[in-house]
Amino acid sequence: VQIELLTIGDELLLGFTIDTNGAYIARALAALGVAVVRRGTVGDGADEIATAVREALDRTGAVITTGGLGPTADDRTRDVIAGVFGRKLHRDDAIFAQVEARFRKLGVPMPPSNVNQAMIPEGARVLTNRHGTAPGLWLEDERGRWCAMLPGIPREMRGMLKEELLPILAGMVGADPTVVLSRTVRTTGIGESALAEMLGDLAKGVDGLPLAFLPAWPGVDLRLTSAERRAPSAEACLTAAAAKLRAAAPRYVYGEDDTDLAGVVLDLCREQKMRIVTAESATGGLIGARLTAIPGSSDVFLGGTIAYTNFVKNRELGVSAELLRDRGAVNEEVARAMVEGACGRFGAEVGMSITGVAGPDGGTPETPVGTIWLAARVAGETRAAGKVFVGDREEIRLRASQAALDMVRRMLTRQIT
Ligand code: AMP
Ligand code: MG
Repeated sequence: VQIELLTIGDELLLGFTIDTNGAYIARALAALGVAVVRRGTVGDGADEIATAVREALDRTGAVITTGGLGPTADDRTRDVIAGVFGRKLHRDDAIFAQVEARFRKLGVPMPPSNVNQAMIPEGARVLTNRHGTAPGLWLEDERGRWCAMLPGIPREMRGMLKEELLPILAGMVGADPTVVLSRTVRTTGIGESALAEMLGDLAKGVDGLPLAFLPAWPGVDLRLTSAERRAPSAEACLTAAAAKLRAAAPRYVYGEDDTDLAGVVLDLCREQKMRIVTAESATGGLIGARLTAIPGSSDVFLGGTIAYTNFVKNRELGVSAELLRDRGAVNEEVARAMVEGACGRFGAEVGMSITGVAGPDGGTPETPVGTIWLAARVAGETRAAGKVFVGDREEIRLRASQAALDMVRRMLTRQIT
């Protein structure tokens, strides 16, 4: 099965909203065995929408749209696509009652414009929206060409895709189709070319699966892709290939797919019955935010100190005022004193600290922007490292948080360095 994707909205053309819906749907469909052969974006204009849908129906005969199903005058998708299919709209009392009920649940009166959302084209199949008011629609002509309309709000779109549209499409592709599936092996602490060298022949592909190197702030992600296999065999190939990559770069791999290094560190500490504290200067709580973003972190993460100024480094963590005065805040001794102060004062077995210059100002010839000292402490042993990260302020802070977490991961997995 082949389809086209059309995302609708002026805000997408202007670049104020990033088209995450298109990317999300394309991924979900590849895993199902539906090929997205073309993706497009148009504004909210009636002619633009009608032309784009007509062309897609002529080319591919199958199109999914997102956006423009809201109640306001700039939401024209429903009316325009009904027109493309030559269908009139009528008020559907059951849908109207649902929209009304949703407002009653929220305890606000329903604005009159929401009646538009109960206007349904003749012969349309309604895709139920359990996460918002705008129902989705499926229109099909006598030749079997179809258009499925999903809402623009990503959370509503995702719910409707999973609950309503994917089951319909799964029925169309039939049993056991060939699918496109990917697996990502996540590495950190090593650059792209060094990693490629370490992987040797595997860098060119593993067991016939192409391999992509995707560098970003968390590290270099290695993405394996299987096309033209059926799902069970694709999964088995990906698992075997991922294991080969892990074995080739064991020190650098911290997980697969969406794994966050913060979660890996929490799991390791949980297993070893250790509790974490943080002492953050340049990252201002970023590590704490990453740890607490993971549900259930409270049994491992005690908390931490945002020791941004020398005053707080001294007062809350016990970093020597003379050291800070004579040597400044960005050096190995301060990083060590911060983590030792945090572990000692809060009574934790594991800690990490970060002090550095995230820029864009504040650099000096000896301590340029991007200089970060980090330290980690596990069960009485402290290690420290000085790094210079590249990127803007945000990237430097993210990379620093990742490096500190990785230092702890290595210590908890008993790696020598
Ligand atoms: P709409 O259904 O067109 O009223 O869109 C509602 C909201 O959903 C917009 O304000 C956008 O923030 C968001 N949105 C619409 N289309 C997309 C898209 N393709 N990707 C991500 N967000 C979107
Ligand atoms: Mg819109």
